[in-house]
Amino acid sequence: MKLDILAIGVHPDDVELGCAGTLIKEIQNGKKAGIIDLTQGELGTRGTIETRYAEAAAAAKILGVSARKNLKMRDGFFKNDEEHQLLLVKAIRKYQPDIILGNVLIDRHPDHGRAGNLISDACFLSGLAKIETKDDEGNTQKSGAHGTFCNICRIGTMSLNCL
Ligand SMILES: [Zn+2]
Repeated sequence: MKLDILAIGVHPDDVELGCAGTLIKEIQNGKKAGIIDLTQGELGTRGTIETRYAEAAAAAKILGVSARKNLKMRDGFFKNDEEHQLLLVKAIRKYQPDIILGNVLIDRHPDHGRAGNLISDACFLSGLAKIETKDDEGNTQKSGAHGTFCNICRIGTMSLNCL
């Protein structure tokens, strides 16, 4: 599924808190948008994984996004390494977005900054044709070579404080 905008947040409520207004406005303008949550937010002081999934699904419906996926990285302990970068490259290539919104690169919460850098790195790597990835059906995915979706994710639109 091709998306115009892909918003990626490390915790299931980051996108809602960081850029819900932007998503609503762009969807109302006819754009197709989606959300990727990197973790299930399992270390959050309030709520449970189940309540976070229910809230994420309800928010996705209210926002009008076309897709929402959770990559189930480990909250608090995911890394910006090859394994996690390739997982995100695969997700980015699945949606082939023109614009990616992601966590800021520097933040008081270590997950936010680490995720921002992971998103930025995966966005760049998704444009490299020599990095081959397969979709869920085993088909080779199209890279974002020739500038299709590399160099577009350095937008630090989400500055959040998750306590
Ligand atoms: Zn957060």
